[in-house]
Amino acid sequence: MPPRILDLCFKVNFSAPIALVLERSETIWERIYKVTEGLIRSLPGRIAGLYFLGNTRRYPISIPRDFTDHIPGWFMENKGRVTLINPILETLKKDGFKGMVVVIAAKLPVDIDDWLDTEVFEQILFVRMAEESFGEPYNEIDGSARIDSIMDVLENPVREVFVAGKGFAPICYEVNPADRIKISYEDSEFRLKIPPHGEKLEIHLKALSEGIPRLHMIRERGAEEIVAGKEEAAWFCKQQWQRIPEKLKPVIEAGISKGYYRCPQCDEDHKYDVLFCPYGDIVLKGIPLNTCVLFTGENYLPLSEWYAYPLGNGRKLITREGNIYDWETGEWIFSHPVSLYERIDNGVWGLYHRI
Ligand SMILES: [Zn+2]
Repeated sequence: MPPRILDLCFKVNFSAPIALVLERSETIWERIYKVTEGLIRSLPGRIAGLYFLGNTRRYPISIPRDFTDHIPGWFMENKGRVTLINPILETLKKDGFKGMVVVIAAKLPVDIDDWLDTEVFEQILFVRMAEESFGEPYNEIDGSARIDSIMDVLENPVREVFVAGKGFAPICYEVNPADRIKISYEDSEFRLKIPPHGEKLEIHLKALSEGIPRLHMIRERGAEEIVAGKEEAAWFCKQQWQRIPEKLKPVIEAGISKGYYRCPQCDEDHKYDVLFCPYGDIVLKGIPLNTCVLFTGENYLPLSEWYAYPLGNGRKLITREGNIYDWETGEWIFSHPVSLYERIDNGVWGLYHRI
């Protein structure tokens, strides 16, 4: 099966969600309450839920009041719990939670060592409500630290974002925020690389692909986040082929037949490969330069706005840099740079007009 053309949308948040896990302790409850409330107020919209050690129940927090209104009841509900973290981490892992887990406790959960050397362990921050350090390898911060300092430790910035997938080749894209977007081709694989900045990322993408392309998000710590693209109605208008100006038609025809043309500038005959008239100027005046241009007998299409153009029913593509790739044994294989007026599809010729 050749790759098909898909219209996709990706929307992701760079700021990681946070799960709060509290120790239900009578003696230090006031301090735990204070830190928890401070964090909830400082992280609006980012609290994925609140848990008590030893209980898999998730207490939802949409706004800070959810905490202050309900916490007395939740506190009573969790009397006598053993400080187990396994059930909570298992649930979060099963739900594919990729945020940070903040454990606010005076002592380590009794079963924490089951998670050493796991990716989940790297997502845990202990806000220690005791004087003495938990020691290595626990990622901890003193619970008497200012909320700002705890927030600093909590941040887990995104280092790398890219879209890839089986048979993936981007055709065109719109990325917000758009900055220094790069398309790489390595080991027969295309990647749309997006340097992360800001809080949010939105991508509209038209692509050739076998399966649904996926967005990979790699943070400083913890597991890689993978988000599948959502199919959407075509975001991009069809490409507009334009009429070849009458006086350039003989030039293009000569290119297609590899013959000669009467130069519209000096009125002498030039071979088709002459793109600069020796007595004048650029021959293909009015047609964009420094990008790949496709021609039919009547029309032309510059690939300046789109990254690539699919050919041969999705088994071939040409990029705006004029590189041709073929779909072979389930991969995009680089073939060659387009030559002058090369026939690249039924009734379609291409050239890369450099200056
Ligand atoms: Zn000439």
